[in-house]
Amino acid sequence: MEFMMDYLSNELPEDSRAIFERHLTACPHCVRYLKTYQTTITLCREAFDVPPMRTVPAEIPEALVQAILAAQRQAVRQGAQVRLVR
Ligand SMILES: [Zn+2]
Repeated sequence: MEFMMDYLSNELPEDSRAIFERHLTACPHCVRYLKTYQTTITLCREAFDVPPMRTVPAEIPEALVQAILAAQRQAVRQGAQVRLVR
């Protein structure tokens, strides 16, 4: 998922990141998934040079999906505000 790529490469907006990290502090399942995901990406880059998306292991926990969606909604709101200011 692109969201997690952004998260892992520190490209998320600060507020979205804060929301997501708040969820992670309360949810060991998502932390474990994220670690697995990160390991997979690293292995792909080092060994196979293929896009990591097709090789993501296991299913994304529902709670993690919800946390991502919440953070993305936050980011969309911020984007709308920026456009209004301009
Ligand atoms: Zn979770």
